[in-house]
Amino acid sequence: MIKETLEQVREEIRDAEKLAGRAEGSVALMAVSKLHTYENVLEAYACGQRLFGENHVQEVEAKFPLQRPEGMVLHLIGHLQSNKVNKIVPLVDGIDSVDSLRLLEKIEKAATASNKTIEVLFEVNTSGEEQKSGFVSDEALFETLSHAGEMPHIKVKGLMTVGPLGGDADKNRQAFRRLRQLRDECQKRYPSLDFSTLSMGMSGDFPIAIEEGSTMVRIGTAIFGPRNYNL
Ligand SMILES: *Cc1c(COP(=O)(O)O)cnc(C)c1O
Repeated sequence: MIKETLEQVREEIRDAEKLAGRAEGSVALMAVSKLHTYENVLEAYACGQRLFGENHVQEVEAKFPLQRPEGMVLHLIGHLQSNKVNKIVPLVDGIDSVDSLRLLEKIEKAATASNKTIEVLFEVNTSGEEQKSGFVSDEALFETLSHAGEMPHIKVKGLMTVGPLGGDADKNRQAFRRLRQLRDECQKRYPSLDFSTLSMGMSGDFPIAIEEGSTMVRIGTAIFGPRNYNL
């Protein structure tokens, strides 16, 4: 039951906040609903969940109605190809996987056309794994950030990373620590931008991410169960 698993995850987040000496409620919960049905999304919504994350443009199009329940917030968290930007921008409130200046420029253009503001996080490849998306070079990230302030339909909110595969706790901690240090550096270099969101931590590693300063955890499996690849 989603009611029980959601309550369990909320409790584990509260425990991790306490353990890390962080304020209660300082970590937001994003429910990652990829490869789960819209009925499951509504069930979580009925239990008070408002923030949802999806990975694929096509799945968002197919799954979510244009008219959503009051207060439901949807972000794209998976890699975004530039030829799908025009499709996704009207459908989401945020894009948490921006990984190039070119992509950011396209999002600004599409958001202008849709007459809306899009919240963005910049994804950083903190593990160096080749199959991961995200900025590899800090310089490319800084270059992108130096233009972000001039884009009126883009609202910078912070950074995002996916921890290394394999579940080695020390490696995950290192990746999360690196994202936090990079965030501090970004805030110093671009004081007029908002870097308050540090999106890191998934079902397998979120307590470590919270210890390392995460302000948003992205949880799929621990809430919805195993993904249904035939969906
Ligand atoms: C699928 C996914 C998640 C959720 O992963 P779980 O292990 O199911 O909690 C979080 N973030 C991203 C970017 C994902 O693709």
